[in-house]
Amino acid sequence: MAYIRTVLGDIEPKDFGVCDSHEHLIRSGGPEVRESRDFLLDNVEASKMEVQRWIDAGGKSMVCMDPIGCGRNVAKTIEIAKSFEGKAHIVATTGFQKGDFYDHKIDFAATNDENEIAELLSLEIEEGMDYNSYNGPIVKRSPAKAGVIKAGTGYSSISDFEYKTLKIAALTQTKTGAPISVHTQMGTMGYEVAKYLDINGADLSHTIICHVQKNPDRFYHKKILDTGAIICYDGPDRAKYYPDSTHIDNIKWLIDKGYQKQILLSMDAGRASYQYGYMKFSGKFCTGISYLLTNFVPEMIEAGIPQEVIDDMLINNPARAFSFIK
Ligand SMILES: [Zn+2]
Repeated sequence: MAYIRTVLGDIEPKDFGVCDSHEHLIRSGGPEVRESRDFLLDNVEASKMEVQRWIDAGGKSMVCMDPIGCGRNVAKTIEIAKSFEGKAHIVATTGFQKGDFYDHKIDFAATNDENEIAELLSLEIEEGMDYNSYNGPIVKRSPAKAGVIKAGTGYSSISDFEYKTLKIAALTQTKTGAPISVHTQMGTMGYEVAKYLDINGADLSHTIICHVQKNPDRFYHKKILDTGAIICYDGPDRAKYYPDSTHIDNIKWLIDKGYQKQILLSMDAGRASYQYGYMKFSGKFCTGISYLLTNFVPEMIEAGIPQEVIDDMLINNPARAFSFIK
């Protein structure tokens, strides 16, 4: 029987509900935080507030995309998931981000063989995530298993290190059946990533190319979709990049071409300043993650996107994409 692997255990895909397919609830350090404190998401109470607002708006699940070496905090992720047991589903991630976040000479991903690293990632999926996120020699397995494999690429380029982590993602998927989700920088190289994963044995119907909307070129999105991969539009409420109308026009164009079964939606609210809870603690208001349901969905309806298509992007497509391959 098909299943989705959440932090608190496996569930049936039909129970996944309305899903934010690329999210960040906890990030306790790492390269992004060193770049800007705005990336620090270390307050469990603020994160719980965010999940509660997601539920209040009609949401049910979130796929948290913080991988190894990027401040993933397994203990706090479990704490959040437990406090919403029976109300929301949280999926956690193993794997890697883009190559810039790792040392290409001395990181364990650089100095070890692809198959050995795929074995380590498989243990996170099949036995439990390391509380230390493989940041040192001592591994302490938690009861929570990872439900998705991450890889990442840079702006308009894929480094040798990134090709290696993509191959590791494909190997890990072949071993475990877990879905793959890939960070693209500014929405570039998604097609090249999909083709490379395909050559390395990945199942593209369980492979998600993220951040495509940062390169709002629908012709390029169509090219990715024609490989069979899934794309994630994860940037409403980011006027500094593009208005929602740009994304909705592109989504509508893709739907008219018949791709409604291959599109996911998310907020990717990976900064404190994008989240209601953190901003509330700073004495400011922002809509936060619930914006996807309270603002973006009504805009899509106003633009003439049918409810059944919205249900595909928020419910049916994530239920299929994040299911393990059997
Ligand atoms: Zn992200």
